[in-house]
Amino acid sequence: MSPISVNDQRGSRHSGGPILVRLRRWALWRQRPRLIGYMVLCELLATAGAVVAAVMTPAPARSDWFRFLALALCATVHLQLSRRQEERRRSRKPTVQIDLVGIWSFAGVVVLPVHLALLGIVLSRVQRYVVARRPLFRFMFSTSSVLLAAVVAHEVVTAFGVRTWSRSTVLDSVSEFGILMLAGFVYFSVQAAIVGVGIVLLSTTRPTLRTVLGTKDDNELEALTIALGAVTAVLLVNMPAALAIIVVVSVIGNRIAEVRQLQVDVRTDPKTGLLNIRGWREDAERALARVERAHNSAAVLMVDLDHFKSINDTWGHPAGDDMLEYVAHALRGATRPGDIIGRFGGEEFVVFLPDADVDEAKLAGERIRRMISELHVPTTDKRGGPVAITNRTASIGVAVHPEHAKGLGELLQAADAAVYEAKENGRDQVRVTL
Ligand code: GH3
Ligand code: MG
Ligand code: MG
Repeated sequence: MSPISVNDQRGSRHSGGPILVRLRRWALWRQRPRLIGYMVLCELLATAGAVVAAVMTPAPARSDWFRFLALALCATVHLQLSRRQEERRRSRKPTVQIDLVGIWSFAGVVVLPVHLALLGIVLSRVQRYVVARRPLFRFMFSTSSVLLAAVVAHEVVTAFGVRTWSRSTVLDSVSEFGILMLAGFVYFSVQAAIVGVGIVLLSTTRPTLRTVLGTKDDNELEALTIALGAVTAVLLVNMPAALAIIVVVSVIGNRIAEVRQLQVDVRTDPKTGLLNIRGWREDAERALARVERAHNSAAVLMVDLDHFKSINDTWGHPAGDDMLEYVAHALRGATRPGDIIGRFGGEEFVVFLPDADVDEAKLAGERIRRMISELHVPTTDKRGGPVAITNRTASIGVAVHPEHAKGLGELLQAADAAVYEAKENGRDQVRVTL
C-alpha cells in the first residue's frame, strides 16, 4: 500500500452511536478539503446529470421494463452467487475498484433508456455496498463516477440512433460493433479519469501512474467487464434467455479475478505493497539471468532503517507501519521503473538494479538515503494523537555483480555484510561491500 491509503484505513473503524456523532466521525471529514470539494462536485454533477437525463427521456416502454427486469435479475443472481468470494477479495485488497457487476450496468447503458440504466446501476451498487465494507464517502464517490460515465456513454450510443441488431448485414455489424466499442471506451475512460483525479487529490505524496490508472490486471478485468457487457446487450435484444450463459460466465469471471488476486498476493507484502522476498527473488533471479547473458553488471542494495525499534517504542507499532509505507514510497520514487524493489522483512528493504555498476549503485544508494532522511511521515502516537516522524535515517549496503559476488544469494549476503559495516561506522550511510 502506498501512503495513499493511510487516511481512510482508520476512517471506517467506527460505527454505531447517535446519528450526529456518527456523521461527525465520517471518514470523509478527515480527507483534505480539496478532495472533499471534488467528491461533492462529482456527486452533484452525477445527480444533476441523472435528473436532466431522466426528465428529458420519455417514459419507458413495456419492452424497456422487461429488459430492465432481466438485467436486474441477472445482476442480483450474479451478486448473490459471487458474494462470499467478493467479500474475501475485497477484504484483502482495500483499493479494488473494478467489479464484474459492471457487465450488467454497461449492457443497461447500451440498451435501456437512461433513467432505467441509472436505476439499475444504483440498485446493483447498493447491493454490493452491503458486501464491500467501504467508507460511505468512497462508495458515493465511485457510484457517482459510474453514473456520470453511464450518462456520457449513453449519449454516445444514442447519438447513433436506436440499436436493434436484428438481421444486420456484415457491414452493419462492423459499424454497430464500432459503436459498442466506442461506448465502452467512453464508459471506461470517464470512470478512470474521475477516479484518477480523486486518487491524485487523495494522495499525500506524489502518486505513481500505476496508483492512478490501476494495475494491468485491474484494467484487463475492466476491459473484460465491458466486453461482456456489450455481448450481454446484444443477447438481451435478440435472445434474452441466453443471458443465463453470461450469468455463469460472470460468476466464473469473479472466481478468476480472485485467483489472479491470490497470485499477486503471494508475491506481495501487504503492508507496503512492495514485492515480498519471494516475489523479489523471482523477479531479481530473472533479471540477473538477463544481465548475465548480456555480460552486464547489476547491483543489490540492502536498506536497513536505523533505530527503527525506537519508532515503535516511542509512538507505537501503527506509527512504525506508517513509516514503512512511506519508505516504500520513497524507494519507488528514488528508483527507475525497471529496478526491482522488495521488502526483505521487518524494516529491511532490497533493491535490484539491473545493468548498474558500482558508481551507479552508490549514486542510487545515496539517492535513497537522502530521500529517506527527508521523509516527513504524518502519523499517530500511542494515544492516537497526531505526530510526525522526521529525521530518520537508513544504512545501505551495496554489492555488485560480478565484482563482489555472482549469484543472487551471494549478492544479498555481501550487501547485508555491508549494512553491518555501515551500522558499525555510525549508520546513515551507503557502504559498498569489500
Ligand atoms: P538498527 O539501527 O541497528 O537497525 O536498529 P533497529 O531498531 O532498526 O533494529 P532492530 O533489529 O533492533 O529492530 C528492528 C525493529 O523493527 C524491531 C521490530 O519490532 C520492528 N519491526 C519489524 N517489522 C515491523 C513491522 O512490520 N511493523 C513495525 N511497526 N515494526 C516492525
Ligand atoms: Mg534490521
Ligand atoms: Mg534497523
